[in-house]
Amino acid sequence: MSDFDYDLFVIGAGSGGVRAARTAATNGARVAVAENRYLGGTCVNVGCVPKKLYSYAAHFHEAFEDAGGFGWHLPEAPRFEWSTLRDNKVGEIKRLNDIYGRLLDTAGVRLINGRARVLDPHHVSVNDETISAEKILVAVGGWPWVPDFPGKELTVNSNQVFDLETFPERFLVLGGGYIAVEFASIFNGLGSDTHLVYRGELFLRGFDQQVREFTRDEMAKKGVRLHFEANIASIEKVEGGLRVNLTNGEQLEVDAVLAATGRRPHLEDLGLDHLDIALTDSGHLSVNERFETSVPSILALGDVSGGPELTPVALAEAMQMVRYHFEDTETSPLDYRNIPTAVFCHPNIGTVGLSEEQARASCGEIRVYAAEFRPMKHTLSGSSERCLMKLIVDDQSDVVVGAHMVGEEAGEVIQGIAVAVRAGLTKADFDATVGIHPTGAEEFVTMRTPSRR
Ligand SMILES: Cc1cc2nc3c(=O)[nH]c(=O)nc-3n(C[C@H](O)[C@H](O)[C@H](O)COP(=O)(O)OP(=O)(O)OC[C@H]3O[C@@H](n4cnc5c(N)ncnc54)[C@H](O)[C@@H]3O)c2cc1C
Repeated sequence: MSDFDYDLFVIGAGSGGVRAARTAATNGARVAVAENRYLGGTCVNVGCVPKKLYSYAAHFHEAFEDAGGFGWHLPEAPRFEWSTLRDNKVGEIKRLNDIYGRLLDTAGVRLINGRARVLDPHHVSVNDETISAEKILVAVGGWPWVPDFPGKELTVNSNQVFDLETFPERFLVLGGGYIAVEFASIFNGLGSDTHLVYRGELFLRGFDQQVREFTRDEMAKKGVRLHFEANIASIEKVEGGLRVNLTNGEQLEVDAVLAATGRRPHLEDLGLDHLDIALTDSGHLSVNERFETSVPSILALGDVSGGPELTPVALAEAMQMVRYHFEDTETSPLDYRNIPTAVFCHPNIGTVGLSEEQARASCGEIRVYAAEFRPMKHTLSGSSERCLMKLIVDDQSDVVVGAHMVGEEAGEVIQGIAVAVRAGLTKADFDATVGIHPTGAEEFVTMRTPSRR
């Protein structure tokens, strides 16, 4: 046993920190974790979980409208009550916070409620206590970042938007990343008159171009008002709301503005600047495949180290870190290719592997199989929502290198397809798979004629 108080001291009990602490402790390490805000971190408290709950809430809007064509008639027009959703969400998150606390406790991890600072490569301070550890894991995640403009202080960020005191009947989202697109869909679905303002020509940079364009058209059909190639010049308070002046001269009056303009590593006042620790160009902690920073006893993973900023990535990194540092097993580096992801805009996006543009650049000859269709449900619902499914195939090897979907439960569908893409299966394997009928997903195994090469 080392002379240190702990084998591992974890800063941050979010997705990565909790998984690392529990897994290391289960392997016999003496572990403590400091958390100064909320157990479970961003995902549980102000990220994936509340967002998905609100997305469910927003989908009811369409479900009520769709029901008529199937013979259901509601006695009166449905009425949405923001406070019920918000307060039920608070209760559910409290339940999850307690579960995280119990998981740490059961694993024998000491949890310290407080803000940790790194003093030197083996010491941290929390609540006036100085603690030594053989290894310190920085798993502090990220924090919303908003650019400067007059009236910036009148905006809310993604941490605050879930708990607005009153429901914004008129809502504006600034940003073009997945969080911006999701919140625009959510508030539109809940009944806000919703605007999305983005400085680029099209949102969701990095996603497949056809997916981006299809999503733009579907969201516009659902009533989200899209303002591309525009930015916020200033915001001012006016009687009954906020006046937002856009750089293209437009003026919009709304009740709330969400700035979903990116996240930065949460490194402020953490003490790492005294150690001259290496950062990447984007300001994240630079780590090697063993998650060691330039100070080898200080490790980092999750959003703070700048990989794909997703909970399952933070979890995978945490388990991999434990394999390297607290298990005697040989292990190969984590494979960051083919990480599937979903965007919970309405309709949802699910995606894995290469976009058509990436595949053209890296594979040479490709075949693209794409189908856009009206889902069976909407033959009776009357909704004009359409679905897009797309496979990208490397022409020479026949391997499916990308799969994309925009449509109901796209994340659920793509999770299964991701196994096949990761396994390197060919289009012939997809073709040989019998479909499940009648589903939308069967399209993934029945598309026979390339749409283009
Ligand atoms: C609105 C939103 C929606 C998202 N939706 C999804 C989604 O659908 N799917 C998905 O996979 N990912 C989603 N994410 C991303 C996901 O939440 C993050 O990738 C994930 O939480 C990263 O985990 P982490 O452990 O790196 O950091 P975090 O979960 O952020 O945890 C960091 C923890 O460290 C604590 N901390 C910080 N500094 C200190 C300190 N000095 N001392 C003590 N404690 C400290 C913080 O309070 C926090 O609890 C979403 C994020 C946001 C913002």
